[in-house]
Amino acid sequence: AKVTRMAPSPTGFMHLGNLFGAIADERLAHQSGGVFYLRIEDTDQKREVPGAVETILKVFSDYELPFDEGATADGDNGAYGPYRQRQREGIYRAYAKRLVRQGKAYPCFCTEEELAAIREKQAAEKANFGYYGSWAVHRDTPLSEVESRVAAGEPFVLRFRSEGDPGRRTKFTDLVRGTMELPENDQDVVLLKSDGIPTYHFAHVVDDHLMGTTHVVRGEEWLATLPIHIQLFGAMGWKMPKYVHTAQLMKLENGNKRKLSKRKDPELALDFYQRQGYCVAAVKEYLMTLLNSNFEDWRLANPDAPLDKFPFNTKKMGVSGALFDIEKLGDVSKNVISRMSAAEVADRLTAWAREYDPDFCALLERDPAYTEAILSIGRGGKKPRKDIAVWSGAKEYLSFFFDELFTCDGAYPENVSAADAKRILDEYAAIYDPADDSGVWFDRIKALAERLGYAANMKDYKQNPSAYRGSVADVSMVLRVAVTGRQNSPDMYEIMRLLGRERVLRRLGSAAE
Ligand code: GLU
Repeated sequence: AKVTRMAPSPTGFMHLGNLFGAIADERLAHQSGGVFYLRIEDTDQKREVPGAVETILKVFSDYELPFDEGATADGDNGAYGPYRQRQREGIYRAYAKRLVRQGKAYPCFCTEEELAAIREKQAAEKANFGYYGSWAVHRDTPLSEVESRVAAGEPFVLRFRSEGDPGRRTKFTDLVRGTMELPENDQDVVLLKSDGIPTYHFAHVVDDHLMGTTHVVRGEEWLATLPIHIQLFGAMGWKMPKYVHTAQLMKLENGNKRKLSKRKDPELALDFYQRQGYCVAAVKEYLMTLLNSNFEDWRLANPDAPLDKFPFNTKKMGVSGALFDIEKLGDVSKNVISRMSAAEVADRLTAWAREYDPDFCALLERDPAYTEAILSIGRGGKKPRKDIAVWSGAKEYLSFFFDELFTCDGAYPENVSAADAKRILDEYAAIYDPADDSGVWFDRIKALAERLGYAANMKDYKQNPSAYRGSVADVSMVLRVAVTGRQNSPDMYEIMRLLGRERVLRRLGSAAE
């Protein structure tokens, strides 16, 4: 059984990459009957945003990625806590002391100015940047001096004494990338900052060990510092977890791939999807297509299987940047929503609107049976209508079902003059009967078309176009535009049936004015 974790920092910004990794984490753990836990990496108090932990918890509950253990809104759940790093300071300190005792870590008293001077000198000498080798000025400070400086209250950080040599290479295995090599680390990295708070490097090594993590899934930006982590696990005498470094999410821009950026791409932030109303199942489904190369084939073969039946496999994960395409997500989303029942769509849409569009919510809730009925048009059957991609788009799509939202801005077909359109509308209003079944309903439109000089079917029209003013399609289009305000809509018979006699006549009338 695998133990995986999400280890976000509470900076208030949850991005697509977090979710991408979490889906992999959750699948790896639960597919193996293991544990998926949440650890809050709150060591950087400056970047911390109030309420960020709640945001994190909300994201994972919205996306139905349940943690078995870890931080919760009201305390810890699990036997390996505390799960918030700031509550673990004593633990890090105890392990840091052990490293100091073993001569593997030492206090460094360099001030910011001294470090800046070192960097300047390194630049002048074209040396490697950083605190290493002969540049590591406090490595051999005698114990008596260390003691008196500490006693005098001088601030210091705790550094790791690296034995690494960048001329040598560290070998390791990444479950996605296979066996890799990187130069050994020769930097004396900081383990504890001057306030006693650990760095990411040290804290996550201690935590992943103590919390029993077997698999670390994290972004590929951590690959470069893996040699440091390997050293630290070695120095502690601990077995390393297995690593999966996930590919960065990229987007195509002017034919070039580039990383999604927090500054330029609103779609990187997860709240974008919540605000737009992408359904959770669709986002997860789409991310799964980016995570596992065989997912799409599996989905074709198993159109209705729940996501957790997919045999997730790190071997099918990509090494190069996964290309995130918001239009593709829209298509996936249309598919997912088209397979839902009208009742489910009504529920989810209403729940979204309650939070993000209260006026629309009020319309949807005014008559829940009507809401479900309008959403059931074109649903079910072999080829359900793929009309809604995001809940925020549903309002536009459904607008003609509500007088409050209805606007008529569709154009009539070009070959229908204004006078003809008016005749069509007036005469149809006179023969329209809401009691018709769909066959009779259409026969009436055909008869009207013929009476006004339009071909009753396309075949006749195509054979001899000059004999007609147009075809029955033009007549239907005039009616469609008058009733729905647009040229594109679901089944007109169903729409008229649900709108009801009074509203249909009113719209025909005002369009004819
Ligand atoms: N706190 C780190 C981050 O948010 C976690 C990286 C990891 O998963 O180890 O980037």
